[in-house]
Amino acid sequence: MSRFFSKRLSHLTPYTPGEQPKERRFIKLNTNESPFPPSLKAEVLAADALKRLQLYPDPECRALSKQLAVLYGVDEDEIVWTNGSDDVLNFAFMAFCDSETPAVFPDITYGFYSVFAKLNGVPFETIPLKDDFSVCPADYFYANKTIFIANPNAPTGLVLSVEEIEDILKNNPNNVVVIDEAYVDFGGESCVPLIQKYDNLLVTQTFSKSRSMAGARLGFGIASKELIRDLNTIRYSTNPYNINSMTMAAGIGTLQDDSYTRKNCKAIIETRARCAKNLKKMGFVMTDSHANFLFIKHPSIEGEKLYGKLKEKGVLVRHFNVERIKDFCRVTIGSDEEMDIFLKHTKEILEDENATSRNKA
Ligand code: PMP
Repeated sequence: MSRFFSKRLSHLTPYTPGEQPKERRFIKLNTNESPFPPSLKAEVLAADALKRLQLYPDPECRALSKQLAVLYGVDEDEIVWTNGSDDVLNFAFMAFCDSETPAVFPDITYGFYSVFAKLNGVPFETIPLKDDFSVCPADYFYANKTIFIANPNAPTGLVLSVEEIEDILKNNPNNVVVIDEAYVDFGGESCVPLIQKYDNLLVTQTFSKSRSMAGARLGFGIASKELIRDLNTIRYSTNPYNINSMTMAAGIGTLQDDSYTRKNCKAIIETRARCAKNLKKMGFVMTDSHANFLFIKHPSIEGEKLYGKLKEKGVLVRHFNVERIKDFCRVTIGSDEEMDIFLKHTKEILEDENATSRNKA
């Protein structure tokens, strides 16, 4: 830290993104990216947009909103576009939290929520997940705080039903409830339709996972016009041109090719089921993930050790050094070929582990 760094931010510990190693080619199952390339339409439209890079992009992102509004059955002014969904989440902390309205979220969830809270000087509280890692909706009733819930949750992949979310909304009429649906396309049920009934609901989604566009950074929020207006106040006070022309074009192409996204999601869901079955046969325990990852643990190997052994074999998964979940690894669902290699190495690691413990005994 330099001597010039703001005292207000001196206690900030930044979010640690998943490793992006360059020294060796890994099978990357650590950051929940899609194994599939972006839609060809996205590629063609983004290449065309390159020719007009001398111009600023449309700050209102009208062409994008027009496409998404039709697909999601909402009005164009019920949408805000951001540089990845991280940005719309950050904007929500800025817009809807302050010292009188703290934030609240589960103890085990997306690690960026606490970083955004600290960055914005927002006090926050965490509520422990139940022993089975599920969220108890009643824990959030009359919270008197701005609520942030990832649904499916990360890294557990567990979901709340739309009815359970509606209960949270009904029981917090005077607070904003943010539902982070980064992984909803892999088996969750979206609560976007609820924005028509609840003016305190903000739903966030991303093009990084199901739509194969993590590198382009495109996310969005859907909410009542009033909440969107507030988020736009923040957006226009930071960077009105937050969506670059190539990303915007790629996003339009992806939305025009929605059947490609649906096909890829279906493939990932099938691969997830196949992997879960194989891992269970090996003795793994896991949550019932509705996301593009599995959250797994094995009685004979620690999470960190499994992560390390897989890394030695060229497969990257994610381990979180957090007490409650330190026995687990989060494994992104890649292509069938990638998952076969992951399963093969995992089996070998377990066999080695069992042989070592037999020798010791
Ligand atoms: N929410 C959750 C739960 C996530 O896991 C992620 C991805 N790390 C995000 C939001 C943000 O993703 P992006 O900024 O790429 O849209």
